[in-house]
Amino acid sequence: MKEIISQFISEVNARNKNEPEFMQAVTEVAENVIPYIVQNDIYYGQNILLRIAEPERVISFRVAWIDDKEEIQVNRGYRVEMNSAIGPYKGGLRFHPSVNLSVLKFLAFEQTFKNSLTTLPMGGGKGGSDFDPKGKSDTEIMRFCQSFMTELFRHIGPNRDIPAGDIGVGSREIGYMFGQYKRLKNEFTGVLTGKGVSWGGSLIRPEATGYGVVYFTQEMLVNKDNSLKDKKVVISGSGNVAQYAAEKCLHLGAKICTMSDSSGYIYDPEGINLEKLAFIMDLKNVKRGRIIEYTNKYPNSEFFKGKKPWDVPCQIALPCATQNELGKYDAQNLIKNGCICIGEGANMPCSPEAIEIFLKNKILFAPGKASNAGGVAVSGLEMAQNSLRYSWSRDEVDKRLQTIMKDIHQSCISFGNEKGFINYVKGANIAGFVKVADAMLAQGVV
Ligand code: NDP
Repeated sequence: MKEIISQFISEVNARNKNEPEFMQAVTEVAENVIPYIVQNDIYYGQNILLRIAEPERVISFRVAWIDDKEEIQVNRGYRVEMNSAIGPYKGGLRFHPSVNLSVLKFLAFEQTFKNSLTTLPMGGGKGGSDFDPKGKSDTEIMRFCQSFMTELFRHIGPNRDIPAGDIGVGSREIGYMFGQYKRLKNEFTGVLTGKGVSWGGSLIRPEATGYGVVYFTQEMLVNKDNSLKDKKVVISGSGNVAQYAAEKCLHLGAKICTMSDSSGYIYDPEGINLEKLAFIMDLKNVKRGRIIEYTNKYPNSEFFKGKKPWDVPCQIALPCATQNELGKYDAQNLIKNGCICIGEGANMPCSPEAIEIFLKNKILFAPGKASNAGGVAVSGLEMAQNSLRYSWSRDEVDKRLQTIMKDIHQSCISFGNEKGFINYVKGANIAGFVKVADAMLAQGVV
């Protein structure tokens, strides 16, 4: 088996040189899915995983724009249309200087499995730009978004490819891009998700990823006759996912010890309560400030410059910032300090070595493609509401989100039960694979 897997990895690697993030994502899936393919005649001999690992289409384009000093800036834009076997391409746009093809291909590959897990009819895609929104004025952001959409608009559409937000792309950026799309196409359609509620957005969409991570984490704990109540939770990030993960943890009676941004983390020994979280939300979403400013407002807290929060003792860890932010030593530290459960809010935040340690120690570990699927699930619900030209209530969407997260948890159990221990990584990979592979087999070699 090892030889078949390593042959497959070499073949994918030969075609995707210098793409470490993409290879990391493909390798993890291959290790779980290839043994399953070998045991199941319908998939064997169809080169199905090789086909899934090859994007259907990759678009790269110039984004030229003029900054506030009237200087011309040039960035690169991308859209990776990975797989449309079960529905139109769906996945976020990321604006961050670290964006390159490897990062977007890993995200689009993960998205394909994640979208399949939601049970909604959505294929996988991802896009973005190496543009850095930090320190830019509102008008610079608008000019960039308009220029970006002036090329992207010809590749997307409500039945073709429906982008959403991700790192650096929130409601402000979605608004500017939607406005430009509408102007270019002269039509009002559900081409982007994450829209404002008054112009086609869904209630609960901003909360959905963070809430979903916590619903999934709670499911894992309940399955072990445990719960989030009174647990110490360490969270990384202070963006969209981190904020709403923290909010839902507080609703369920947990204590939030940390939050972070790319400059370091804050530790509050008294806990970050709802009032303090409201301060962070205003700081990050309105004032666009840095997390260190929390310590000025709450002097009993401490800021750890350039550090990640994984050495703070906790029972639950929710990495909600970015890929590969939690490595081998962090995993060892977390376990040593009593951590029993990890829910990935970000995409691929734990390194393969860290995941191996969690699984070896039989720690509850939820991979992002399962635990953070709530965001795209509610995006799917936004698309449904747009098609119906109707809006569901907050309660209705939240109930559907909870049901979807429970169903994903159940799918992971169905495919990941190893003599009583639930290997959620294996469960999510195989469950996500089966639906996409079945559709691809039915649709022939295309
Ligand atoms: P935001 O841009 O709202 O927030 C990102 C947060 O992570 C910020 O606090 C940011 O700090 C921090 N961060 C970003 N890059 C780094 C880095 N290299 N090192 C340390 N910290 C970093 O993004 P989201 O909350 O939307 O996304 C967070 C993660 O969740 C990503 O992996 C994303 O792909 C994933 N995700 C998001 C979904 C969504 O619906 N938004 C859906 C599913 C997954 P700073 O401000 O300093 O950059």
